[in-house]
Amino acid sequence: MTTMYQDRALGAAVHDSATEPFFAATAAGSLQVKACGGCGKLHWYPRPLCPYCLGDTDWRSVSGKGEIYSVSVTRRAGPIPYAIAYVRLDEGITMLTNIVDCDLDALRIGQRVHVVFKPADDGAMIPMFAPDQD
Ligand SMILES: [Zn+2]
Repeated sequence: MTTMYQDRALGAAVHDSATEPFFAATAAGSLQVKACGGCGKLHWYPRPLCPYCLGDTDWRSVSGKGEIYSVSVTRRAGPIPYAIAYVRLDEGITMLTNIVDCDLDALRIGQRVHVVFKPADDGAMIPMFAPDQD
């Protein structure tokens, strides 16, 4: 079976002082996550305090490269099927995301992916992932 990716409405992003640095980065084509100034560990989703040591956090750019940890094609949530996945970045953190721009039925655990950005309804660029070309 083949289920080709189709763009779908993403709604509007949440814009506040906590998310603006993130969306400024995605608008410029960069994926950023939070890093702890105390222990140095990265984490996702972004938090004002480190989940490991409660240290202060700052934004840090990451490669946007990783692999699929888990993936499922959702067919019943709306008129357009989409692939929801956990992607483990090469930096070691895992993001809940969508896999796009491919045949959704050909996705496999362990497959290499890279970040791409899709526009939300308000123009904010949302990070998603697409398979690397072999
Ligand atoms: Zn920490």
